[in-house]
Amino acid sequence: MSQDVIGKSAQDLAQANMQDYATESASFSWDKARELLDGLPGGKLNIAYEAVDRHVNNGGGDKTAFRLIAKDESTTDISYRDLMHLTNRFANALQSLGVEKGDRVYSLLGRVPQLYIAVLGTLKAGCVFSPLFSAFGPEPVKARLEIGGGNVLVTTRLLYKRKVAPIRDQLPELKRILLIDGEDADQDLLDLAKLMDAASEDFEVVATDPEDLALLHFTSGTTGKPKGAMHVHQAVVAHHYTGRTALDLHPDDVFWCTADPGWVTGTSYGIIAPLTNCVTMIIDEAEFDAERWYRILANHKVNVWYTAPTAIRMLMKAGGDLAKKEDLSNLRFMASVGEPLNPEAVLWSVDVLGKPFHDNWWQTETGGIMIANYACMDVKPGSMGKPMPGIEAGIVERTENGAQEVTKPMALGELALRPGWPSMMRGYLHEEERYKKAFSNGWYLSGDLAMRDSDGYFWFVGRSDDVIKSAGHLIGPFEVESALIEHEAVAEAAVIGVPDETAGEIVKAFVALKPGFTADEDLRLSIVGHARKRLGPAVAPKEIVFRDNLPKTRSGKIMRRLLKARELGLPEGDISTLESDEK
Ligand code: ATP
Ligand code: MG
Repeated sequence: MSQDVIGKSAQDLAQANMQDYATESASFSWDKARELLDGLPGGKLNIAYEAVDRHVNNGGGDKTAFRLIAKDESTTDISYRDLMHLTNRFANALQSLGVEKGDRVYSLLGRVPQLYIAVLGTLKAGCVFSPLFSAFGPEPVKARLEIGGGNVLVTTRLLYKRKVAPIRDQLPELKRILLIDGEDADQDLLDLAKLMDAASEDFEVVATDPEDLALLHFTSGTTGKPKGAMHVHQAVVAHHYTGRTALDLHPDDVFWCTADPGWVTGTSYGIIAPLTNCVTMIIDEAEFDAERWYRILANHKVNVWYTAPTAIRMLMKAGGDLAKKEDLSNLRFMASVGEPLNPEAVLWSVDVLGKPFHDNWWQTETGGIMIANYACMDVKPGSMGKPMPGIEAGIVERTENGAQEVTKPMALGELALRPGWPSMMRGYLHEEERYKKAFSNGWYLSGDLAMRDSDGYFWFVGRSDDVIKSAGHLIGPFEVESALIEHEAVAEAAVIGVPDETAGEIVKAFVALKPGFTADEDLRLSIVGHARKRLGPAVAPKEIVFRDNLPKTRSGKIMRRLLKARELGLPEGDISTLESDEK
């Protein structure tokens, strides 16, 4: 564990929305958080109204809601007023087709404007939205449409032809296909632009109940078959508040969340939280490219940046010099989510970007950020930070009598949360038993293992399934991987346990190298030597193999279970979300 602490300056504090963590936590209530939003008459609440219309009604219509950067780097700005009219048209178009409140609207689109319009227009119409990642093949698309009972799909001609047409006859509930490039569409395929042109730009937002279903998000599939988590309109209270405190969003900020809306981060923090906080957000249509990313940060004067450990490690691999070519002085706050953020990555960001990345933790199930490093709080590299005000987190043990909290500092246990926050999932779709099993003695059990130190900071250890039991030690893969990537040659590492007669399991590491290093025996010995020095022989990997790439989900998470299944010659299980692959 890293001993460094990155302190915050008076200047950091002067700008922070939350000035003091303890004071804010003591005075917090969800009712007060809800007052930061406008709501609709009669106690109703609609995410899209809070994200768009209320700013126009409050005089902010001219402000840019988002700036789209196309693949060729040309830009299109859409103001809050334009967004209100476009989403109204979309909602009217749905109603003109007979789509009703509660119907399920899906998207299968890249990061194009219509995706954002569809999400918000659907919510305005009181329908439920579920975004699909555009790189999914026909099977994952089918599975998710089937589980959620999708009635409408917004997509492109090409994606429809490749991924939906072959399975269409197996999806009887899928009644309407709206094509964003659907000029002269056939009778069954509708031209979205034409429908929207014909629709009015005025629409009365459907007055949804705070408990009405709004979003259906599938988990990343890192540990198994993806689950469909159901979220309701009042999740927006948590989106807004966490955006304001954990991401420190201010109304004049330019904010860039690099996650694709095909995943919960790209919706909660790539659409809803930034818009409710009235910022200008950046949407980049293209995929990761280190030079392009630094250019975007500089040219568009991004102030707040939310990204993921995989991307940060790729930036580290590309070398800090690239960052130094650009003027990144507008960056004020940087955060990361999705996987454990290695301490090395935080130290790197301080060195190269002049500021630390602030790690935060949450899940598809929690709908919003639960544990975070805040602008006003010192950062301990490698720690996820402290629970959001309003969130009680604990370390628990599963016993015969259910979950029991362990309060001793640095005790290892399962990370658990007291349910009751607005963005908590209301269920796994069609998996009632599984949902029930996630709760015990008033705790929601996350499936992740962690520790809490005496200052109240939480430290991620690994997913329960990934923890290694070797010669009486419980070894968390994160600690070992973090030590490995400290080695100058290592870009990425994934660690698993493989069965061993004497030790029970031994630690095996898969390592991808930075450019310019050769995978040979000398290097292997040097990495093993470094790991032994850092971790001791009991915890250091016994075996290291080199790989060009590590298998990851499309949301950028290393799939250790797949490395393990392959290692042991077991079935690979559900790999519908697998991105990079090499056997
Ligand atoms: P599945 O549940 O289908 O296996 P998944 O858990 O990867 O997939 P998500 O809900 O997208 O699906 O990811 C949440 C998980 O990601 C967390 O439970 C945790 O394991 C990991 N995670 C997210 N943020 C962090 C973080 N800051 N540090 C460590 N792990 C994190
Ligand atoms: Mg999960």
